Amino acid sequence: MKTSTLPVNTDVLETFQTSLGKNEQIEFWGNIPFILLHVGCIPVLWCGVTPAAFVLFLVTLIPRMFGLTGGYHRYFSHRSYKTSRAFQFALAVLGCSAFQKDPLWWAAHHRHHHRYADTKLDTHPPSQRGFFWAHMGWVMCKKNANLKPDDLVPDFMRYPELVYLNRHQKVVPLTFLAFMALLSYGLAYFFPGLQTSGLQFLVWGFSISTVFLHHVTFCVNSFAHIAGSRRFETKDTSRNNLWVALLTMGEGWHNNHHRFPSSERQGFYWWELDMTHLILKTLSWFGLVWDLKVPPAEVYEEAKRRVTRGA
Ligand SMILES: [Zn+2]
Ligand SMILES: [Zn+2]
Repeated sequence: MKTSTLPVNTDVLETFQTSLGKNEQIEFWGNIPFILLHVGCIPVLWCGVTPAAFVLFLVTLIPRMFGLTGGYHRYFSHRSYKTSRAFQFALAVLGCSAFQKDPLWWAAHHRHHHRYADTKLDTHPPSQRGFFWAHMGWVMCKKNANLKPDDLVPDFMRYPELVYLNRHQKVVPLTFLAFMALLSYGLAYFFPGLQTSGLQFLVWGFSISTVFLHHVTFCVNSFAHIAGSRRFETKDTSRNNLWVALLTMGEGWHNNHHRFPSSERQGFYWWELDMTHLILKTLSWFGLVWDLKVPPAEVYEEAKRRVTRGA
């Protein structure tokens, strides 16, 4: 059964494939912003945490994570539901504020991953290149960081506002950083009763929140291809991993996802907690998203057969 019908220019994929393996060293200079994000967490050692700082951490974490899971992944990469052009742009901007580049770049890499999962052509397979590469090495290499997505996501290239975000990848993240600096120091100044400081707010609301977002996203490529259970006999090494699912608002049901990538829900049953699905379902009641795709009956039948056989 065919699981994905996303438009991809195969000529470009051929070029992409043949160039894999070259220029794949992890470089230092291009990763200075990525390194600085991590360094920005160090002040937590002396400024500690307060309830107010932790609340700001959650407030900046959860919506941005949804921008990645509900936006970059389930919408831009897999088109698992439909939405308006305005909400599409809102999802794009929300995702950009997570410092994982723009939706076209992200979706291009991700579509490629599904097509070549766990083969030599896959960009980040732990089975081929080890844990570190799968987790973060691939994104620190110049070739992957600079991928031009034009023909890998042709369906979204007709939106100039998305192309703008791709060509100017720093605009949204730097605006978000400036906003968070103002908010952090403003809150600390005007609400001294919160007993926190501007630095503490900034470290939790920006640095730790952003670095946490990075690493839980990376866990889907690393841990969810190494540890967990396999409900479906997919050709790749994808696994359902409860912990990754909890940390990523549902993205850890990765074996389900590889079996039927165009499903909007990745937890296929009510007991597989999928916060992104619950949020999208809620948004659909307000008419912000619609046509949420579900796995077909034969996928559920296949799951049942595996359970019956004791697999
Ligand atoms: Zn995968
Ligand atoms: Zn996917």
